[in-house]
Amino acid sequence: MKTKSITKNPKYLILFSLFMSLCMGLLLYGTIKLEKKLSSKMLEISISDVISISQNSSEAIYWLLKDSKNYVKDIKENVELHTKIERFLTILLTKNIKYSYLVYRDKNGIFRFLVDGTKGEEKAFINQKFDVDNPKWLEIYETKNPQLIKQPLLHQLSITYLIPIIYENRVELILAIDFSVKKIEDINKIITVIKYIIAGIIFIILSIIIALIIQTAKYISVKHTAFVDSLTNVYNRNYLQESKDFINLSDFILAALDIDHFKQINDSYGHTVGDRILRQIADVIKHATRQNDDIVIRYGGEEFLILIKNKRKNNVLPLDTLERVFSNIQEYKFRISNTETINVTVSIGVNLVPGKSRTFQDAFKLADIALYNAKNKGRNKIEIYSNEQKDDFYMTINEIKDAIEENRVTCFYQKIIDNDTDKLSHYEALLRIISKEGTIITPDKILPVIKGTFISRNITKRVLKICYEKLKTNPDLALNVNLNPQDIINDSILSILKDYGKDKNISTRLGIEIVESEDIVNYKDAKTNLLILKELGYKIYIDDFGSGYSNFIYLTEIKTDFIKIDGNIIKKILEDDISFLVVKSIVSFAKEAKIKVIAEYVSDEKIYEKIRELGIEYSQGFYFHIPEEFSKLKR
Ligand code: GH3
Ligand code: MG
Ligand code: MG
Repeated sequence: MKTKSITKNPKYLILFSLFMSLCMGLLLYGTIKLEKKLSSKMLEISISDVISISQNSSEAIYWLLKDSKNYVKDIKENVELHTKIERFLTILLTKNIKYSYLVYRDKNGIFRFLVDGTKGEEKAFINQKFDVDNPKWLEIYETKNPQLIKQPLLHQLSITYLIPIIYENRVELILAIDFSVKKIEDINKIITVIKYIIAGIIFIILSIIIALIIQTAKYISVKHTAFVDSLTNVYNRNYLQESKDFINLSDFILAALDIDHFKQINDSYGHTVGDRILRQIADVIKHATRQNDDIVIRYGGEEFLILIKNKRKNNVLPLDTLERVFSNIQEYKFRISNTETINVTVSIGVNLVPGKSRTFQDAFKLADIALYNAKNKGRNKIEIYSNEQKDDFYMTINEIKDAIEENRVTCFYQKIIDNDTDKLSHYEALLRIISKEGTIITPDKILPVIKGTFISRNITKRVLKICYEKLKTNPDLALNVNLNPQDIINDSILSILKDYGKDKNISTRLGIEIVESEDIVNYKDAKTNLLILKELGYKIYIDDFGSGYSNFIYLTEIKTDFIKIDGNIIKKILEDDISFLVVKSIVSFAKEAKIKVIAEYVSDEKIYEKIRELGIEYSQGFYFHIPEEFSKLKR
């Protein structure tokens, strides 16, 4: 995934086009110069010819007039002389020398023809008035030097060369030779074509530039509306979709950030305040990161993705930047009204080497797994996805999908013991997947990968079906099954449970365990649905009680039948006083509320004694039974 800067940034294309049109402009300028040079060269050649012809002619005329004392008078009166000069002037005419004539100025200073070498209708007669249109005709009388009159016309060059015929230091006559030469049309045509082509190219390039500029402007504004989240002003998911091929993941570390207990904030202060907090969180993240290096994306409702550049100036480690994001949020006073502020914490999962993943999705999944762990460990934490957990620690989504399709989803069963009798009360069905190679895969390698996806629901459905069949074929069996809070609000799962529940003999033998979570109370539907399930005869168990959210109030709202104390507390009950006190208070509350208590992770006799002492009704753990497949159960 290399950065394709030219396509990514039209700026370069515009600069390139500008450079090209500059080159073309110079070429055009050069061509025009060349054309001028050619014309003047042509003129130079022509002029030198005309000058030498004219000079020779004037000498010939001097020779013809050698006996004359009054040129004008003699030519006018001496027909023979006139004819001689006229013939001479006529001889001079060629394709290019159109006119050759002698003029004089009369007493009134008016120019008049004296001899005209022209043939045909255009021929002027003696004394015909001649209109001069150039001051050089007058100058010649003062300078007594030849004069050149140039008239570049469209397709030809016209030159009139004037030579004074001097008698006793006076200009008596002027010999004028009109010379016109066609421009070299072929060269001219080629030059014109070249000029048009270059101008055309410049026009096209300029059009492209204009189009590009318009396109870029559009792109920028579309990018802003399509790629920027309107609530928080950071990039949205579309941006990621659009640019993930251009982002070189090896340049970044990838972090997934999720606000802790955000639902609670929404519930306590309202959605508008929730939105305001989202905005403030985004601002804090933006301030703690670098605008040009790092990328902040609002990935989901209250989940942000942060890409932090590896190579940073001042040797700041990318993880330090992330720590700053984390602690800035922790310290920030989030404004919920004009007078009130609250503190908010977040959990962050980090993938330090996203470049090692094949796709962006894979890299993100690892950050998400770390985030899941941060949440699991009690929130308000940064967790780094550990490479020690080999990349193949977790199943991939595809492996899980295959397992569902190929019927390799199964359950292991663990006994739950009635502490009064030391005997089996019922079982908990625990999810397992049998790998293609036949190994047994436990939920810790499955659930983080599918959390929140439809696959998670498909697995729940599969497990429900397995349990249902076991209950149908084994009339004395009772089972617990694990559902997550999202399952409870899912219509298709609810309708499956309603369907099974038509038979009270099934529902009364199927306990539903839900992990303790604020979702249960916060989703109105979850509460309603749990009450419906209770009506149908299912027993409700709150699982892992004491691990996270711990809110005694909701136990009474849902009117749960059992709570299972989190195994991590039971584990420490012997050596840790606090754990002991927590368990004790849970038990005393449960007794008051008429809720039965189950202890998980009962791993040895001492723990078992202790929990019996406390009056806990049921036990589950390796001390009694290691989960196994149904056919192996000794019942
Ligand atoms: P935790 O992440 O700590 O597990 O708990 P949480 O309460 O944050 O739970 P979760 O992440 O599952 O819930 C996200 C909640 O964020 C659900 C939804 O009500 C809220 N939310 C999502 N998008 C928005 C939004 O745009 N505005 C507001 N105000 N709330 C949102
Ligand atoms: Mg959250
Ligand atoms: Mg459980």
